[in-house]
Amino acid sequence: MRVIAIDGPVGSGKSTVAKAVAGRLDLPYMESGAMYRVVALAAVRRGIDPSEPDALTALATEVDMQIGDRVTLDGEDVTDELRAPEVGRAVSAVAAVAGVRTELVRRQREWASERGGAVMEGRDIGSVVFPDAEVKVFLTASAGERARRRELDETADDLARRDRLDSTRAVSPLIVAQDAVVIDTTGRSVDDVVDQIVALLS
Ligand code: C5P
Repeated sequence: MRVIAIDGPVGSGKSTVAKAVAGRLDLPYMESGAMYRVVALAAVRRGIDPSEPDALTALATEVDMQIGDRVTLDGEDVTDELRAPEVGRAVSAVAAVAGVRTELVRRQREWASERGGAVMEGRDIGSVVFPDAEVKVFLTASAGERARRRELDETADDLARRDRLDSTRAVSPLIVAQDAVVIDTTGRSVDDVVDQIVALLS
């Protein structure tokens, strides 16, 4: 099974680059953050507080989610709603719950194995979900560029808060996996970054 793991903070270029790499290699593309956003959206709708780990873990286990070009929650297309500010503000606390992560990591592995591989992007793909990935990339970009890339969706304060929570949580924090190649995407074209990643494949 061929897996390319692409991790990095908010606005580092993960989605754009991962989609383009998947296109070049003809592999399925998976945005693992969508799974965390689906659980966060379900929690917001049901009024479950981020401080209720058992209820959140049960929710992550029970909901039906389909991840693809469109994303569904219990059969409803929620693709656009996943970008709502209240989901963005809830998601990092939901993603810090160990039980939620165990369940979503299981779903991510299943998703890739059912499709025979994937280019998967997130925060812990190379470190936890697929430690044996063929190639592991950690994308970065300057703070200014990251804020600019996200400015239509998220305030600079919300972005910084999410990065802080994601990097400091106890379970699977955002880290550079030991054997990951760090690529700074600041001021670089997508094609240029994709060329560099594809060249890492043996
Ligand atoms: O990728 P995106 O920014 O949409 O991810 C939303 C949130 O989901 C992140 O801020 C993080 O809290 C969580 N996440 C995670 N592990 C992943 C992917 C996303 O904790 N592999």
